Amino acid sequence: MSLVIVGSVAFDTIETPLARRERIIGGSCTYSALAASFFTRPKIVAVVGEDFPRETADFLKKRRIDLKGLTVVPGGKTFFWEGRYGDDPNQRETLKLDLNVFNDFRPILPPSYRAPDILFLANIGPDLQEHILAQVKRPRIVAMDTIRHYIVTQPDAIDRVLRKVDIYFANDEEARLLTREQNLVRAGRSLLDRGPRLVVVKKGEHGALVFGPDFVFGIMARPCEGVVDPTGAGDSFAGGFLGYLDKTPGRTPKDIRRAAVYGSVMASFVIEDFGIGRFLTLDRGQVEGRLRQFRKLSTF
Ligand code: AMP
Repeated sequence: MSLVIVGSVAFDTIETPLARRERIIGGSCTYSALAASFFTRPKIVAVVGEDFPRETADFLKKRRIDLKGLTVVPGGKTFFWEGRYGDDPNQRETLKLDLNVFNDFRPILPPSYRAPDILFLANIGPDLQEHILAQVKRPRIVAMDTIRHYIVTQPDAIDRVLRKVDIYFANDEEARLLTREQNLVRAGRSLLDRGPRLVVVKKGEHGALVFGPDFVFGIMARPCEGVVDPTGAGDSFAGGFLGYLDKTPGRTPKDIRRAAVYGSVMASFVIEDFGIGRFLTLDRGQVEGRLRQFRKLSTF
Protein backbone atom coordinates (compact mmCIF):
# COMPACT_ATOMS: atom_id res chain seq x y z
CA MET A 1 0.00 0.00 0.00
CA SER A 2 1.29 3.46 -0.72
CA LEU A 3 -0.10 6.96 -1.05
CA VAL A 4 1.61 9.70 -3.07
CA ILE A 5 0.37 13.28 -2.59
CA VAL A 6 1.22 16.27 -4.79
CA GLY A 7 0.10 19.73 -3.69
CA SER A 8 1.24 22.97 -2.11
CA VAL A 9 3.54 23.36 0.87
CA ALA A 10 3.10 26.95 1.91
CA PHE A 11 3.40 29.90 4.20
CA ASP A 12 -0.08 31.18 5.01
CA THR A 13 -1.19 34.45 6.53
CA ILE A 14 -4.63 33.96 8.02
CA GLU A 15 -7.11 36.42 9.40
CA THR A 16 -10.23 35.38 11.29
CA PRO A 17 -12.67 37.72 13.07
CA LEU A 18 -10.71 37.06 16.29
CA ALA A 19 -7.02 36.89 15.33
CA ARG A 20 -4.38 37.12 12.66
CA ARG A 21 -1.37 34.84 12.11
CA GLU A 22 1.49 35.77 9.76
CA ARG A 23 3.39 33.24 7.65
CA ILE A 24 2.45 30.07 9.44
CA ILE A 25 2.94 26.68 7.81
CA GLY A 26 0.12 25.57 5.50
CA GLY A 27 -0.49 24.17 2.05
CA SER A 28 -2.81 21.52 0.63
CA CYS A 29 -0.05 18.88 0.57
CA THR A 30 1.05 19.64 4.13
CA TYR A 31 -2.44 19.31 5.59
CA SER A 32 -3.44 16.22 3.63
CA ALA A 33 -0.15 14.39 4.26
CA LEU A 34 -0.31 15.14 7.99
CA ALA A 35 -3.91 13.90 8.22
CA ALA A 36 -3.05 10.76 6.20
CA SER A 37 0.01 10.09 8.38
CA PHE A 38 -2.27 8.90 11.19
CA PHE A 39 -3.15 5.89 9.00
CA THR A 40 -0.32 5.30 6.51
CA ARG A 41 3.08 6.64 5.42
CA PRO A 42 2.43 9.20 2.67
CA LYS A 43 5.04 10.24 0.13
CA ILE A 44 4.87 13.91 -0.85
CA VAL A 45 5.74 15.76 -4.06
CA ALA A 46 6.15 19.51 -3.58
CA VAL A 47 8.67 22.33 -3.64
CA VAL A 48 9.78 24.89 -1.06
CA GLY A 49 12.36 27.66 -0.95
CA GLU A 50 15.38 28.03 1.27
CA ASP A 51 13.17 30.00 3.68
CA PHE A 52 11.26 26.85 4.67
CA PRO A 53 11.94 26.00 8.34
CA ARG A 54 14.00 22.91 9.10
CA GLU A 55 11.85 22.19 12.20
CA THR A 56 8.79 21.75 9.99
CA ALA A 57 10.60 19.31 7.70
CA ASP A 58 11.75 17.47 10.84
CA PHE A 59 8.19 17.31 12.15
CA LEU A 60 6.92 15.89 8.83
CA LYS A 61 9.68 13.25 8.99
CA LYS A 62 8.77 12.47 12.58
CA ARG A 63 5.22 11.77 11.36
CA ARG A 64 6.88 9.29 8.97
CA ILE A 65 6.06 11.30 5.84
CA ASP A 66 8.46 10.48 2.98
CA LEU A 67 10.15 13.71 1.83
CA LYS A 68 12.18 12.26 -1.08
CA GLY A 69 9.85 14.12 -3.45
CA LEU A 70 10.19 17.48 -1.66
CA THR A 71 12.51 19.78 -3.62
CA VAL A 72 14.27 22.66 -1.90
CA VAL A 73 15.22 25.46 -4.32
CA PRO A 74 18.38 27.28 -3.23
CA GLY A 75 17.60 30.99 -2.84
CA GLY A 76 13.94 30.31 -3.74
CA LYS A 77 10.82 31.57 -1.95
CA THR A 78 8.15 29.21 -0.65
CA PHE A 79 4.56 29.44 -1.99
CA PHE A 80 2.57 32.09 -0.10
CA TRP A 81 -1.18 32.40 0.44
CA GLU A 82 -3.15 34.96 2.42
CA GLY A 83 -6.80 34.52 3.27
CA ARG A 84 -9.46 36.16 5.39
CA TYR A 85 -12.53 34.59 7.00
CA GLY A 86 -15.69 36.49 7.85
CA ASP A 87 -18.10 35.61 10.66
CA ASP A 88 -19.22 32.60 8.64
CA PRO A 89 -16.24 30.19 8.68
CA ASN A 90 -17.47 28.65 5.40
CA GLN A 91 -16.81 31.91 3.57
CA ARG A 92 -13.28 33.06 2.83
CA GLU A 93 -11.56 35.51 0.59
CA THR A 94 -8.12 35.03 -0.95
CA LEU A 95 -6.14 38.26 -0.47
CA LYS A 96 -2.81 37.17 -1.93
CA LEU A 97 -1.39 34.20 -3.81
CA ASP A 98 2.30 33.96 -4.73
CA LEU A 99 3.21 30.71 -6.47
CA ASN A 100 6.93 31.54 -6.15
CA VAL A 101 8.94 28.27 -6.46
CA PHE A 102 5.85 26.48 -7.86
CA ASN A 103 5.96 28.71 -10.95
CA ASP A 104 8.20 26.39 -12.92
CA PHE A 105 8.22 23.26 -10.80
CA ARG A 106 8.19 20.21 -13.13
CA PRO A 107 9.68 17.42 -11.01
CA ILE A 108 10.82 13.98 -12.15
CA LEU A 109 9.38 11.54 -9.63
CA PRO A 110 11.80 9.40 -7.57
CA PRO A 111 11.59 5.72 -8.70
CA SER A 112 9.99 4.68 -5.37
CA TYR A 113 7.06 7.04 -6.12
CA ARG A 114 6.11 5.67 -9.53
CA ALA A 115 3.74 2.85 -8.68
CA PRO A 116 1.55 4.14 -5.85
CA ASP A 117 -1.60 2.42 -4.82
CA ILE A 118 -3.31 5.78 -4.40
CA LEU A 119 -2.31 9.07 -6.02
CA PHE A 120 -3.78 12.25 -4.55
CA LEU A 121 -3.62 15.33 -6.76
CA ALA A 122 -4.24 17.82 -3.97
CA ASN A 123 -5.01 21.45 -4.71
CA ILE A 124 -2.33 22.90 -7.02
CA GLY A 125 -2.22 23.94 -10.69
CA PRO A 126 -3.86 21.37 -13.01
CA ASP A 127 -0.78 21.36 -15.28
CA LEU A 128 1.36 20.11 -12.40
CA GLN A 129 -1.33 17.59 -11.45
CA GLU A 130 -1.25 16.21 -15.02
CA HIS A 131 2.55 16.21 -15.08
CA ILE A 132 2.62 13.95 -12.00
CA LEU A 133 -0.22 11.73 -13.22
CA ALA A 134 1.68 11.07 -16.46
CA GLN A 135 4.64 9.64 -14.52
CA VAL A 136 2.89 6.96 -12.47
CA LYS A 137 1.74 3.47 -13.43
CA ARG A 138 -2.04 3.34 -13.26
CA PRO A 139 -2.74 3.47 -9.49
CA ARG A 140 -5.71 1.72 -7.90
CA ILE A 141 -7.18 5.12 -7.07
CA VAL A 142 -6.47 8.60 -8.44
CA ALA A 143 -8.12 11.38 -6.43
CA MET A 144 -8.12 15.13 -6.98
CA ASP A 145 -9.01 18.39 -5.32
CA THR A 146 -8.92 21.90 -6.71
CA ILE A 147 -9.99 25.42 -5.78
CA ARG A 148 -12.01 28.32 -7.20
CA HIS A 149 -8.80 29.97 -8.48
CA TYR A 150 -8.06 27.13 -10.97
CA ILE A 151 -11.74 26.49 -11.85
CA VAL A 152 -12.01 30.12 -12.94
CA THR A 153 -8.60 30.56 -14.59
CA GLN A 154 -8.05 27.10 -16.17
CA PRO A 155 -11.47 25.44 -16.63
CA ASP A 156 -10.42 23.29 -19.63
CA ALA A 157 -7.41 21.86 -17.81
CA ILE A 158 -9.59 21.10 -14.77
CA ASP A 159 -12.04 19.25 -17.03
CA ARG A 160 -9.18 17.22 -18.52
CA VAL A 161 -7.88 16.15 -15.09
CA LEU A 162 -11.43 15.36 -13.89
CA ARG A 163 -11.83 12.87 -16.74
CA LYS A 164 -8.78 10.94 -15.49
CA VAL A 165 -9.61 10.60 -11.79
CA ASP A 166 -11.62 8.14 -9.71
CA ILE A 167 -12.46 10.41 -6.76
CA TYR A 168 -13.11 14.14 -6.81
CA PHE A 169 -13.19 16.17 -3.59
CA ALA A 170 -15.01 19.50 -3.93
CA ASN A 171 -16.57 21.93 -1.53
CA ASP A 172 -20.12 23.13 -2.11
CA GLU A 173 -19.01 26.40 -3.75
CA GLU A 174 -16.66 24.60 -6.16
CA ALA A 175 -19.26 21.97 -7.06
CA ARG A 176 -21.79 24.70 -7.89
CA LEU A 177 -19.24 26.74 -9.83
CA LEU A 178 -18.13 23.79 -11.95
CA THR A 179 -21.61 22.50 -12.76
CA ARG A 180 -23.69 25.70 -12.61
CA GLU A 181 -26.19 23.71 -10.54
CA GLN A 182 -27.38 25.29 -7.29
CA ASN A 183 -28.85 22.05 -6.00
CA LEU A 184 -25.99 20.01 -4.52
CA VAL A 185 -27.53 16.64 -5.33
CA ARG A 186 -27.82 17.61 -8.99
CA ALA A 187 -24.29 19.08 -8.84
CA GLY A 188 -22.90 15.83 -7.37
CA ARG A 189 -24.62 13.73 -10.03
CA SER A 190 -23.45 16.04 -12.78
CA LEU A 191 -19.85 15.76 -11.54
CA LEU A 192 -20.14 11.96 -11.66
CA ASP A 193 -20.94 12.34 -15.38
CA ARG A 194 -17.67 14.25 -15.89
CA GLY A 195 -15.39 11.28 -15.05
CA PRO A 196 -14.95 10.36 -11.38
CA ARG A 197 -16.58 7.24 -9.93
CA LEU A 198 -16.97 8.93 -6.56
CA VAL A 199 -17.63 12.60 -5.79
CA VAL A 200 -17.29 13.99 -2.27
CA VAL A 201 -18.97 17.36 -1.76
CA LYS A 202 -17.84 18.98 1.50
CA LYS A 203 -20.12 21.49 3.14
CA GLY A 204 -17.95 22.90 5.93
CA GLU A 205 -19.73 22.84 9.26
CA HIS A 206 -22.66 21.05 7.60
CA GLY A 207 -20.70 17.89 6.81
CA ALA A 208 -20.31 16.20 3.45
CA LEU A 209 -22.16 14.20 0.82
CA VAL A 210 -20.53 11.24 -0.92
CA PHE A 211 -21.98 10.39 -4.33
CA GLY A 212 -21.31 6.97 -5.86
CA PRO A 213 -22.74 5.40 -9.02
CA ASP A 214 -25.69 3.96 -7.10
CA PHE A 215 -25.56 5.45 -3.63
CA VAL A 216 -25.43 8.71 -1.71
CA PHE A 217 -23.96 8.86 1.77
CA GLY A 218 -24.34 11.81 4.13
CA ILE A 219 -21.84 12.52 6.88
CA MET A 220 -22.17 15.23 9.49
CA ALA A 221 -19.40 17.48 10.71
CA ARG A 222 -18.71 17.30 14.44
CA PRO A 223 -20.62 20.13 16.09
CA CYS A 224 -17.94 22.59 17.23
CA GLU A 225 -18.60 25.77 19.22
CA GLY A 226 -15.26 27.42 18.65
CA VAL A 227 -13.73 27.05 15.20
CA VAL A 228 -10.30 28.67 15.57
CA ASP A 229 -9.12 28.43 11.92
CA PRO A 230 -11.00 26.54 9.17
CA THR A 231 -7.94 26.48 6.88
CA GLY A 232 -6.94 23.00 5.81
CA ALA A 233 -10.23 21.34 6.79
CA GLY A 234 -10.86 20.19 3.19
CA ASP A 235 -7.31 18.91 2.73
CA SER A 236 -7.40 17.13 6.08
CA PHE A 237 -10.73 15.52 5.16
CA ALA A 238 -9.19 14.17 1.95
CA GLY A 239 -6.00 13.08 3.76
CA GLY A 240 -7.91 11.16 6.42
CA PHE A 241 -10.21 9.62 3.80
CA LEU A 242 -7.39 8.46 1.51
CA GLY A 243 -4.99 7.53 4.34
CA TYR A 244 -7.63 5.21 5.74
CA LEU A 245 -8.40 3.72 2.29
CA ASP A 246 -4.69 3.11 1.71
CA LYS A 247 -4.67 0.81 4.74
CA THR A 248 -7.93 -0.93 3.82
CA PRO A 249 -8.01 -3.78 1.29
CA GLY A 250 -11.74 -3.39 0.48
CA ARG A 251 -13.55 -0.77 -1.61
CA THR A 252 -17.13 -1.55 -0.64
CA PRO A 253 -19.62 1.24 0.04
CA LYS A 254 -19.11 0.40 3.74
CA ASP A 255 -15.34 1.04 3.44
CA ILE A 256 -16.09 4.32 1.67
CA ARG A 257 -18.46 5.37 4.45
CA ARG A 258 -15.85 4.65 7.09
CA ALA A 259 -13.23 6.56 5.08
CA ALA A 260 -15.59 9.55 4.95
CA VAL A 261 -16.06 9.44 8.72
CA TYR A 262 -12.28 9.38 9.24
CA GLY A 263 -12.05 12.34 6.83
CA SER A 264 -14.55 14.25 8.92
CA VAL A 265 -12.71 13.28 12.13
CA MET A 266 -9.40 14.68 10.83
CA ALA A 267 -11.09 17.89 9.63
CA SER A 268 -12.71 18.29 13.06
CA PHE A 269 -9.26 18.33 14.70
CA VAL A 270 -7.46 20.70 12.35
CA ILE A 271 -9.97 23.55 12.86
CA GLU A 272 -9.30 23.58 16.62
CA ASP A 273 -6.05 25.51 16.21
CA PHE A 274 -4.30 27.77 13.68
CA GLY A 275 -2.52 26.10 10.78
CA ILE A 276 -1.15 22.64 11.51
CA GLY A 277 -1.00 23.41 15.25
CA ARG A 278 -3.46 20.71 16.31
CA PHE A 279 -1.47 18.00 14.50
CA LEU A 280 1.58 18.73 16.64
CA THR A 281 0.03 17.01 19.67
CA LEU A 282 -2.62 14.75 18.13
CA ASP A 283 -2.28 10.98 18.56
CA ARG A 284 -4.03 7.96 17.11
CA GLY A 285 -5.88 7.28 20.40
CA GLN A 286 -7.57 10.70 20.14
CA VAL A 287 -8.49 9.95 16.52
CA GLU A 288 -10.18 6.68 17.52
CA GLY A 289 -11.89 8.41 20.47
CA ARG A 290 -13.44 10.94 18.14
CA LEU A 291 -14.53 8.21 15.73
CA ARG A 292 -16.53 6.74 18.62
CA GLN A 293 -18.05 10.17 19.31
CA PHE A 294 -19.09 10.40 15.66
CA ARG A 295 -20.77 7.01 15.91
CA LYS A 296 -22.77 8.13 18.96
CA LEU A 297 -23.68 11.40 17.26
CA SER A 298 -25.18 9.82 14.18
CA THR A 299 -26.62 6.49 15.36
CA PHE A 300 -30.34 6.28 15.99
P1 AMP B 1 -8.38 24.23 2.43
O1 AMP B 1 -8.72 25.16 3.56
O2 AMP B 1 -8.45 22.78 2.81
O3 AMP B 1 -9.14 24.54 1.17
O4 AMP B 1 -6.83 24.49 2.06
C1 AMP B 1 -6.11 25.61 2.46
C2 AMP B 1 -4.69 25.56 1.96
O5 AMP B 1 -4.65 25.65 0.54
C3 AMP B 1 -3.85 26.72 2.48
O6 AMP B 1 -2.92 26.25 3.42
C4 AMP B 1 -3.18 27.33 1.25
O7 AMP B 1 -1.78 27.44 1.39
C5 AMP B 1 -3.51 26.37 0.13
N1 AMP B 1 -3.86 27.08 -1.11
C6 AMP B 1 -4.61 28.20 -1.25
N2 AMP B 1 -4.71 28.56 -2.54
C7 AMP B 1 -4.01 27.65 -3.26
C8 AMP B 1 -3.73 27.47 -4.65
N3 AMP B 1 -4.22 28.30 -5.58
N4 AMP B 1 -2.97 26.40 -5.01
C9 AMP B 1 -2.51 25.55 -4.08
N5 AMP B 1 -2.72 25.67 -2.76
C10 AMP B 1 -3.47 26.70 -2.33
